[in-house]
Amino acid sequence: SKGAALVTAVAQRLASRKRQVDETLSSFKLSQEQLQLVKARMRAGLEAGLKSKGPSAIKMLPSFVYHTPDGTENGKYLALDLGGTNFRAMLVNFKKSLQQNVRLYHKIYTIPLEIMQGTGEELFDHLAQCIGDFLDYMGMKNARLPAGFTFSFPCEQTAIDTGTLVSWTKGFKATNCEGHDVVSMLREAIKRRNEFELDIAAVVNDTVGTMMSCAYEDPQCEIGLIAGTGTNVCYMEEVKNIEKTELQKGKPEKFKGTPDGEQDEVEELSMLKMCVNTEWGGLGDDGSLDDIITPYDTEVDQNSVNPGKQRFEKLTSGMYLGEIVRQVLLDLTRGGLLFRGHVTETLKTPGIFQTKYLSQIESDRLALLQVRSILQQLGLNSNCDDSIIVKEVCGAVSRRAAQLCGAGMAAVVDKIRENRGLDHLNITVGVDGALYKLHPHFSGVLQKTTKALAPRCDVTFLPSEEGSGKGAALITAVARKKKEI
Ligand code: BGC
Ligand code: MG
Repeated sequence: SKGAALVTAVAQRLASRKRQVDETLSSFKLSQEQLQLVKARMRAGLEAGLKSKGPSAIKMLPSFVYHTPDGTENGKYLALDLGGTNFRAMLVNFKKSLQQNVRLYHKIYTIPLEIMQGTGEELFDHLAQCIGDFLDYMGMKNARLPAGFTFSFPCEQTAIDTGTLVSWTKGFKATNCEGHDVVSMLREAIKRRNEFELDIAAVVNDTVGTMMSCAYEDPQCEIGLIAGTGTNVCYMEEVKNIEKTELQKGKPEKFKGTPDGEQDEVEELSMLKMCVNTEWGGLGDDGSLDDIITPYDTEVDQNSVNPGKQRFEKLTSGMYLGEIVRQVLLDLTRGGLLFRGHVTETLKTPGIFQTKYLSQIESDRLALLQVRSILQQLGLNSNCDDSIIVKEVCGAVSRRAAQLCGAGMAAVVDKIRENRGLDHLNITVGVDGALYKLHPHFSGVLQKTTKALAPRCDVTFLPSEEGSGKGAALITAVARKKKEI
């Protein structure tokens, strides 16, 4: 009959549409073999970064943090945290006897886009203004507090309190900062303001801060992971393996900051560890990920402020996942497979799919109707099939991100296990970042992949509370303690 023929035709059209969507999404599927390869490339990148004196895809930056906290830290510290999108000022009080810290107060300041992308002087003047506001608020303008500065970008360090910005990442591109010491820039901005004084004792990557704050609670924590706007990992490495600096030759001046490294230097050296900020987001900048990079990824990279850089980060972190999704949706729409083939201005707008929408769309508790209403809010008119497809696209992109992070993590934990000559390693990873904390599936896939690719390691993931700020305060406490001795 006519009716039956129509039903068959509709069914066939749907099946063919599904086939084409599946085909598009298949470029985001990674086999176990491919993930093993990514793990191997990450491992090779870590090793190359530890050796290379010149630039390498993975930078492996020494942090001059030699120990995780021992619980004797105490006193009041200011923690300053410049992250992906905002600046936080925080007062942290560590009480020795209670072995527990008290966060007294913190305030969040957004960084306006024109400041992120203006001049360095304007950026640091803005930070100084925020700090002034916070100290006013706390009534502590005359306290001259010791401060730790969490700065979530790659810095070349020669001591705990100096850090030269190698290159901006994420959305930042303020001028006259790359190649300059960010601590000096902050000190100068504070001097220009001439309103208060601060004693900036440490500059710390957010991964290092996160590791330290989690290690305060769990001594097995020797890795820090950020899966947020950007992505990165730090871990405790043997100083003797950090070949690119003079550290392992035991030059005494390099050991300022080591508690007892000055005596028994040689003996100490073989035991000594230092936290290394890997900057693993740079994996692939030498082309090593080209075989898994899709045309959608290439488009996102080309439209970014740093094309060709941070290729691994652009496959795995919050700032980019929504953009990858948008590129796929654009392609499917152009192919007539979505939104009735209408490419709207909204769909052409960069940045519409923030991570928080991905997290919502992928939530299993959400009915399709709600997915449609989110899309509606974004200005995308969808029918029921559209919303199924959008959800599938989000799932494919975020799953690949979590698997890639897991492959990278497997490389890191196996490296640590081999460093220590162990058959089996128990270790904790301190984690922060919205992708890890808020996305419904990211953390689960990450953990599963890590386990599958590093079967000889038991890896516990510990979400940090106020991680990077508290960690900076802990590092400052250790740095000050040393100065007093
Ligand atoms: C930066 C890292 C940082 C990470 C997470 C990356 O873009 O290069 O230094 O740790 O983002 O914030
Ligand atoms: Mg942060």
